[in-house]
Amino acid sequence: MSPPKRRRREGGKLEVWKFGGASLADAAAIRKAADLIASAPGPVVIVASALGGVTDLLLDGATRAAAGHAKAAAHAAAEFLKRHRAVAHELVSNGARRRQLLALIDAAAREYKDLTIAVGVLGHLEPRTSDVLVSRGERVSAAVLAAAVTEAGRQATFVDAADVVETDGHHGGAAPNLEGTTRRARRSLKPLLARRQTPVVPGFIGHGPDGSVTTLGRGGSDLTATLLARALGAATAVLWKDVPGILTADPRLVTDARLIPQLHHREAAEVAHYGAKVLHPRALIPIAGTRIVLRVRSFVDLDQPGTEVSARRSDRTHPVKALAIIRGQAVVTVAGKGMAGVHGIAARTFVAVDAERLSVSTIFQASSESSIGFTLPEPEADRAVRAVKRAFQGELASGLIDNVTSRPGMAVVAVVGDGMVGTPGVAARVFSSLATAGVNVVAIAQGSSERNISFVVREPDVPEAVRRVHAVFQLSKIGGGRPLATPYTDVVFLGFGRVGRALADQITASSGGPPVRVVGVLDRSGYVFDQRGLSDRRLLELAREKDGGALVASLGGTKASAAEALKFMADHAVSHPVVVDVTSDETTPLLIAALGQGFDVVLANKKPVAGSRDGYAALMAAASAAGRRIKYEATVGAGLPIIDTYQKLVETGDRVLQIEGAVSGTLMYVVSAVSAGRPFSEAVREAVEKGYAEPDPRDDLNGRDAARKVLILARLMGYRGAAPTPENLVPTALARLSLADFMKALPSVDADWAARVKQEAARGHVLRYVVAATPKSVSAKLVAVAVDSPIGALQGTRNLVAFTTHRYRTEPLVVSGPGAGAAVTAAGILNDIYSLATR
Ligand code: ADP
Ligand code: ASP
Ligand code: MG
Repeated sequence: MSPPKRRRREGGKLEVWKFGGASLADAAAIRKAADLIASAPGPVVIVASALGGVTDLLLDGATRAAAGHAKAAAHAAAEFLKRHRAVAHELVSNGARRRQLLALIDAAAREYKDLTIAVGVLGHLEPRTSDVLVSRGERVSAAVLAAAVTEAGRQATFVDAADVVETDGHHGGAAPNLEGTTRRARRSLKPLLARRQTPVVPGFIGHGPDGSVTTLGRGGSDLTATLLARALGAATAVLWKDVPGILTADPRLVTDARLIPQLHHREAAEVAHYGAKVLHPRALIPIAGTRIVLRVRSFVDLDQPGTEVSARRSDRTHPVKALAIIRGQAVVTVAGKGMAGVHGIAARTFVAVDAERLSVSTIFQASSESSIGFTLPEPEADRAVRAVKRAFQGELASGLIDNVTSRPGMAVVAVVGDGMVGTPGVAARVFSSLATAGVNVVAIAQGSSERNISFVVREPDVPEAVRRVHAVFQLSKIGGGRPLATPYTDVVFLGFGRVGRALADQITASSGGPPVRVVGVLDRSGYVFDQRGLSDRRLLELAREKDGGALVASLGGTKASAAEALKFMADHAVSHPVVVDVTSDETTPLLIAALGQGFDVVLANKKPVAGSRDGYAALMAAASAAGRRIKYEATVGAGLPIIDTYQKLVETGDRVLQIEGAVSGTLMYVVSAVSAGRPFSEAVREAVEKGYAEPDPRDDLNGRDAARKVLILARLMGYRGAAPTPENLVPTALARLSLADFMKALPSVDADWAARVKQEAARGHVLRYVVAATPKSVSAKLVAVAVDSPIGALQGTRNLVAFTTHRYRTEPLVVSGPGAGAAVTAAGILNDIYSLATR
């Protein structure tokens, strides 16, 4: 049979397939890759990344060796050896091929270790050395994969990329030389293909003009694949990844990111250039303007078509197709009032920066011409500032330029799409969506190609900015307009005590309400988090373990402070996040930070709203600045709709003149029992026994809890004064006793109480602990009320709040019912969550 015929029968056209680190994670994954390659219908060239995590492992060991931690490097070498030996044993049958492979692995580990010892002696790690060290990862993985493919029944040959890929020699991030690579690739790979061998080439590496090993920068195997596709005139390059393809945004930031079915080369190039990790920044360069089709496909689900990147322009329904983000940037600004008159500022700035080989990602100029700026990676900012200052020495001295400054902590967000050309209003939509969210844009650049608008925001604003822009262009509907999945309200529990657990029960048992899921639980030890929502089982299991006294960090969670945990969650694709504070801590600063990160807040914790006036004001100001809401129904009367009623009255135009009521279940219980003739000491004992009171009943009897609640109500009405001094029902003489002594001494006050009750009863009154609030006053004290008044008639632990308003002037509007207990408190919280969910 003649060769051309055979090629046709095999499916003909050459393809280059690249397997990413995640697709070569362990023996099972490598076997899957090998089987896939073995069953490829036509000729393929394979490009292999290092096994997942290996590049990081090698780099980390080397960096730490340079810092004097010789053990760290030895440990990395051992880990490297162990992982590769294990897969070799599992994938390659005993015999010469396995022995050869093991020898290669051993040698690579040994060389790595020896070199890191030298690095430790020198005390620093040159990019040149780093390249040599890290290249072991790809070399060994390619050899392993070649052996596995052969085992799977297709003849595969390892070809060292250092022999094939020619680069400019820039260590740590070399640019390939297309001509040289084409020549070498044809010479070494074509003959193999002609013999129906499948070449397996390490990705990421090449060699410089001096013959030294160079890497193409992190993620560089993508570039190796497109480069070889171009060099060999392949029809297709396939990148097998652990994502379904190129998505509209980083799925770690945007939960409803969607697969983009097709992108033009130019669009994909922009997405890659702007840091979407899915493609190396320069991966599209070799194939732009060719007919080579790039496919980014799912290694997880082999039947899915993935994303096609080609010279077609198909989807015209979405002017914007994708968002990409470069983090860890600094903005360098050259500013001065005299700049308008100076010739060639921009050109000179970038010549200076270019001379330093710094990687500028975006350039922008204010229309006033009084400043010009650019972004680049934070660690490069100082060098850039120095270089630009040097270039403008004269202008700085004469004052034409005021200063060259850098601002770290920035990120660039690129909004990409071919359809932006000629679609008016794209920029306006981007920026108005950011303005509504209160996201501050630091700088804006529109590429002259009009295929991308990029803007700079502070790092903490990235998740919110990206979600807003994603939503405004309906990117979750790209590729077929599947209806949007109902967006969840994602709840994070701050604290997981009795109330938190009751709430978890109610959320898992609820049906029919708006879609709410719990994504995170924090306690003082750390957090657990799952962006897709913790399963009911996991949540109930956590609740059970917490009941037994365990902490979440030890229940499969992560150790962290609450602030770190919330920040992490805010950064990880939480959809309409709500933090529920069920602690009794001073959480105000934490909640202010959470509001800034995009959380709405629901409180059962009274402290933030009943604490200092300044703290309260700061919290409310933070909410309004961030365009977020705070709900705290459960802080007063548990699940009773007290704050809700107040708000409805005000919203409908009524004016509330006074709020009065009994808001402490414990005090209600004790005082009403005493009023009904029971001895005070007995009533207190009973309240404790029945669980109506705190373990030390003085915490209720002192009236402070009631005072907090009335302050919350008064603040609603605009009260700005101090907290009330509540009447204290703990006899002064007994305040300092131990709990046991206190309970023993309590009967000493029974007679006084009985006398007072009797005296009031004679005129038709009973005693009640009553709070009252107006916009100008608050009080919390024991009073005598008519036996047939609403409060006088109240019994047990019930709460009652009466609103005297313009409309309800003669007969107040009364809300009454059980006002304490974990279950009703949780119900109050759930109501708040629902009302936030359906806004
Ligand atoms: P490989 O295994 O080929 O090296 P990478 O890990 O480099 O693959 O790229 C895939 C990762 O890129 C995903 O895990 C995903 O989190 C991230 N990513 C960022 N932006 C995007 C995007 N727009 N589309 C798909 N993935 C993205
Ligand atoms: N292994 C290298 C990295 O982790 C290159 C690659 O995976 O493409 O960056
Ligand atoms: Mg990668």
